[in-house]
Amino acid sequence: MNEKIAVRPNSKESGVYCIVGAGPAGLSMARSLESKGIPFHIFEKHSNVGGIWDIDNPGSPMYESAHFISSKYLSNYVDFPMPEDYPDYPSNRQILAYHRAFAKEYDLYKHIRFNTSVRSIEKKGSKWSVTLENGETALYEGVICASGITWSPNVPKFPGQDTFRGEILHSVKYKELSLFRGKRVLIVGAGNSGCDIACDAGVAADQAFISVRRGYYFIPKHILGMPADVFGDGAHWIPNWFSQWVFGIILKFLVGDLTKLGLRAPDHKIFETHPILNDQLIHNLRHGDVIAKGDIARLDEEYVEFQDGSREKIDLIVLATGYHWSIPYMNETYFEWKNGRPELYLTLFNRNYENLYALGYMETDGGAYKMFDEMANLISSYIEAKRNGDASAEKFERLIRSDRPLLNGGIKYLNTGRHSVYVNQVAFKKYRSKIQKKMGWPELKTGQFESLKKRNEFTKPGELVGAKV
Ligand SMILES: Cc1cc2nc3c(=O)[nH]c(=O)nc-3n(C[C@H](O)[C@H](O)[C@H](O)COP(=O)(O)OP(=O)(O)OC[C@H]3O[C@@H](n4cnc5c(N)ncnc54)[C@H](O)[C@@H]3O)c2cc1C
Repeated sequence: MNEKIAVRPNSKESGVYCIVGAGPAGLSMARSLESKGIPFHIFEKHSNVGGIWDIDNPGSPMYESAHFISSKYLSNYVDFPMPEDYPDYPSNRQILAYHRAFAKEYDLYKHIRFNTSVRSIEKKGSKWSVTLENGETALYEGVICASGITWSPNVPKFPGQDTFRGEILHSVKYKELSLFRGKRVLIVGAGNSGCDIACDAGVAADQAFISVRRGYYFIPKHILGMPADVFGDGAHWIPNWFSQWVFGIILKFLVGDLTKLGLRAPDHKIFETHPILNDQLIHNLRHGDVIAKGDIARLDEEYVEFQDGSREKIDLIVLATGYHWSIPYMNETYFEWKNGRPELYLTLFNRNYENLYALGYMETDGGAYKMFDEMANLISSYIEAKRNGDASAEKFERLIRSDRPLLNGGIKYLNTGRHSVYVNQVAFKKYRSKIQKKMGWPELKTGQFESLKKRNEFTKPGELVGAKV
């Protein structure tokens, strides 16, 4: 360990941090703080860890058929590979079990208070006052918001909706395909969830349709027998413009011309939108189990009319139209929201308020958990430097206020809310590494968390023990 930033022996007493949420981001943050001896508590509204991967967590967008979109090989937490007997793309239940095993292995349960929703957080002097749903309040040194981005459904309205006699529900409420039996079903939106749900409808519905507003690239989950991300991982040394060109050609060979299936041709280059990894939808379109339609023009009693003038009788519309990002327990003035996304340094550090952090408020082009670990390491390195009075903390604070790097790796992401905090993994890693090196903060190393494993000091998830207000 770098002696200059070693934690002082009494620092455990000098300021407890609060993590909101025990999903993957909260767990990653917890392991990182624990490894640096920084005291913290986690509040989790649900009864166990795992975030959205627990289909029983009320409001989770998970559905029975969901599988991982990134492969297990590149999606694990650092030093905690997914089990060998897991398939390339594990099921949602396997991913949940993986998160729970992680929390157990690193003895994180003892820090978490379950069934405890955070109601509000506000600044009180130099501390943060955290109020729980039951009215309890405590002061914390700092707050890390890790409460996720898929809890507030985006529900568009369509012309003529009041006349529609069918049912409309957001995909967050969709759980399993028996819902579709005996119905003509329209899925709106072709994100990864929309495509999965359309495939479920293709199996169970009398007829399934998918309404897609623009053309997308559909990347097969395997290329030459390898998971697509593993295939692409070997090509990071290639400039992005070149890999866009090469992948464009590969996809033409593998997938062919999708306009023949009623889909639009993409109006952008590959990788300029969040990748859709799905070959099943193409299979279903080719077999007529799902029919592609364009944008919806209006709803009319039992019918949906599309922009091209065609009409279909529809019993059920599932809106796979994404989510509004929110941090509902913090007054809007604390975070600067731009295009519906919080504006943060490196997607992590609040620029205006000290000791206010967010982890998981970004989207990226690959498995998130290693990235969460590296981001958590950056946050806890900064906290550690502050606690130790290390000069690097002040240096970093200047960057928080002024540094606005472009983290797109030269890729022109589409100008939509979704892509405004979209992070290119390679570019992010490179930049984060450079900054960390400048600060003298070590990178994550294999074996770093070894000492946390299976320690014998398990205590029950405690009462609120931050300083009582
Ligand atoms: C269908 C689907 C497939 C996906 N596939 C992949 C994939 O293949 N690879 C990948 O890396 N990512 C994937 N993701 C992204 C996924 O969002 C992340 O894997 C991960 O779950 C995000 O973790 P998180 O901790 O940021 O948020 P969440 O999982 O949302 O966890 C947040 C936690 O905070 C809790 N919480 C919320 N509000 C409060 C409050 N006020 N008080 C206390 N607790 C609160 C919630 O109960 C929850 O436990 C997928 C997402 C979906 C929907």
